[in-house]
Amino acid sequence: MEKIKVGVLGATGAVGQRFIQLLENHPWFEINFLLASEKSANKLYKDATNWKLNTPIPENIKNLMIYSNPLDAPKNTKIMFSGLDNSIALEIEQKFASMGKHIVSNSKNHRMFERVPLLIPEVNHEHIKLIYTQSEKGKIITNPNCSTTFFTLIAGVLNKKWPIESIFVVTIQAISGAGYPGLSSYDILDNVIPHIEGEEEKMETEPLKIMGKLKNNRIDYASIKISSSANRVAVIDGHLETLSIKFSSTPPSIDEVKTELNNFISPLYNLNLPSAHKNPIQVFEVNDRPQTRIDRDFLNGMGTSVGRIRKDSIFDIKMTVLGHNTIKGAAGGAILNAELLVKELNI
Ligand code: NAP
Repeated sequence: MEKIKVGVLGATGAVGQRFIQLLENHPWFEINFLLASEKSANKLYKDATNWKLNTPIPENIKNLMIYSNPLDAPKNTKIMFSGLDNSIALEIEQKFASMGKHIVSNSKNHRMFERVPLLIPEVNHEHIKLIYTQSEKGKIITNPNCSTTFFTLIAGVLNKKWPIESIFVVTIQAISGAGYPGLSSYDILDNVIPHIEGEEEKMETEPLKIMGKLKNNRIDYASIKISSSANRVAVIDGHLETLSIKFSSTPPSIDEVKTELNNFISPLYNLNLPSAHKNPIQVFEVNDRPQTRIDRDFLNGMGTSVGRIRKDSIFDIKMTVLGHNTIKGAAGGAILNAELLVKELNI
């Protein structure tokens, strides 16, 4: 099978670099277009990018030219993976959609649009059908904010069996979530910053769409109360989250919650998507896991880890959740969404 040609928008950034790394040996996708700002345009990728990952820049990407004008995209590039800065993502993504290119975006701009699926496909893969309500030939799909992803995946799995009334979540987030160069070392070393611009608002709204129900071509939002607090710490990758949940009726036992999460089988598994895992959740019994450094790479960064599942004296249960913010929480999650889109549209 000839590989599907794809582009990476925001190719020089933290998420863009992850896209390039993760797509290097992808069985379906091959990069043939890179876009970044005018500052990087007309330069070779290796010259324009301050590469920060622990594998080398792929050979076929090093000497690709970066463009800043969407009109320079080759005709045969079918899917654009977007890690664009929020300030520009709306305009550029819409331009590509009007050119007939499908957009798989990490940026916040399109997430809450009525006709745009916001996907954690292990929880709401059926929301992909919203693409048929979009008028452009190029369809737009999105993945949530990285801090939303992990606790919503866990809550979303539990909510299907035991409807949730309210959620309280506190995040301990990595600096790669702020992009590159992000925070200065003087600000973050020996420090915890108790605020991340816009993060709490996203964590309190995006899960309601994700855990909502698709009815008559629109999403009926979940009516769960969510309170969140976001903190930035001096960790490179991996968001750790403490999650408390209150259920709408009689709560499950701790053992029932553990069994449900442990036995969770991804509904994508039978679709044979290259990035899907059969058991994307691991549950720890020991008290000191998950830990960010040790567990963020579970399933090559595509898994979600849970531990310390116990009773909560105010809510019903509480636990610690961990995931890799630039892989499952950004580029890897988007690649999985793109694979689902390819299946859906038979590209
Ligand atoms: P970043 O490191 O700052 O990268 C931003 C990218 O956007 C760079 O490639 C930059 O190119 C490009 N860009 C900026 N202005 C542009 C313009 N006018 N035209 C074209 N390209 C332009 O940011 P990031 O952390 O990768 O985040 C990218 C997006 O993903 C954001 O919307 C962010 O909220 C979202 N996100 C990030 C994470 C994460 O963990 N980092 C997780 C989930 C979602 P130049 O290098 O040429 O300036």
